[in-house]
Amino acid sequence: MSKSPENPATLVRRTPWPSSVSRSVVTPLQPSVVYASQSPDQLDQQYEGEIHGYTYSREGHPNATVLAQKIDAMEGATGGIVTASGMAAVTAAMLGLLKSGDHVIGGDQLYGRSLRLMTQDLPRFGIETSLADPTDIAAISAAVTDRTRMILVEVVSNPTLRVADMQAITALARDKGLILVVDNTFTTPTAYRPFDEGADVIVHSVTKLMAGHSDAMLGYVVARAPEHQEMITGTAVTMGMTASPFDCWLAERGLYSFDLRYRAASENAAALADHLAGLPGVSRVLYPMRPDHPDHNRAVALLGGQGGNMVSFEVNGGRAAANALTLGAKNIAFAPTLGDIGTTLSHPASSSHRALTAEGRAALGISEGFFRVSVGVEPIDLLKSEFEKAVEAAAAFS
Ligand SMILES: *Cc1c(COP(=O)(O)O)cnc(C)c1O
Repeated sequence: MSKSPENPATLVRRTPWPSSVSRSVVTPLQPSVVYASQSPDQLDQQYEGEIHGYTYSREGHPNATVLAQKIDAMEGATGGIVTASGMAAVTAAMLGLLKSGDHVIGGDQLYGRSLRLMTQDLPRFGIETSLADPTDIAAISAAVTDRTRMILVEVVSNPTLRVADMQAITALARDKGLILVVDNTFTTPTAYRPFDEGADVIVHSVTKLMAGHSDAMLGYVVARAPEHQEMITGTAVTMGMTASPFDCWLAERGLYSFDLRYRAASENAAALADHLAGLPGVSRVLYPMRPDHPDHNRAVALLGGQGGNMVSFEVNGGRAAANALTLGAKNIAFAPTLGDIGTTLSHPASSSHRALTAEGRAALGISEGFFRVSVGVEPIDLLKSEFEKAVEAAAAFS
């Protein structure tokens, strides 16, 4: 005779959650896809928005709400939503607000997938796009047509860390009635708050500095106008761009230390930039707060002294030197990401900018010896010695 420890009929029922007069200090993780309501009347009222209640997690869940509200507060926004990735946030903003026949202007050094969205995907749906240099307001201005409806820019570009002329772009968008979408991933609300400066939509790859530990893939999008937010949210929910509870839970946990991480990493980045500039074999260092940066004055005016955690630099010697450099930096992950709590190193020519020709890269100032560093919170002396070893290893090939 088989022994059943429990009546199967009770096993399939959810055991009631134990009651407790004390509450969890930590944000609970709520992985439920569905939510049970009491009656069709109640469900009706939920769908009509007369009372609040979750229904199905693609439409919303508590972990997404908690995370979105936290980022809303950082950005001085309300009603933002969390998406399954930064790209989902960019896509939701564009597909939510644009229609066939519209024209969009994008910065010419946008994140690689945003560039692809602009050049390959949107045109398939009848949305026309142009790319222009956001450090040059004349170029952005010249791209405006009578069908232009939106401008998408990043404040600090990847990987040359050029600083967009946000004041002039914002004024142009106001003047022409265009929707200004700012991808604030690199800058974060600590260095730049797009709504305070007049932008209409903010997007983030929460995957990067905000979540901060390379273990959650998420995005965030918020529009200043409630009717825009409604369109974006509707598109994101319909197209399945919304986020998983576990990732939201991890990212919210990551945000507790965001301010500490960002400040420590930025301080490290400024010090590492200066250190790299003094190393023999380093031909160029790019950091917005350094006086030799091409957009230094604008960076100082725009970013309130926050240079951020990204530093780029160049060594001579081509691919062989580049290979030696990553092998020489034994304790720095060579990985095409940014914003991790630890320092990571990326090589645009073999990753983010591999689709360009060598000439195309050269036009942007990206050679085989060009590296981008996402600086983390390690002790600065460790970073200095790690990069000294790396640059020295590369020097054998220059
Ligand atoms: C990474 C990144 C994205 C895309 O974010 P994912 O979370 O990887 O989808 C968009 N914009 C910028 C500036 C990024 O760095």
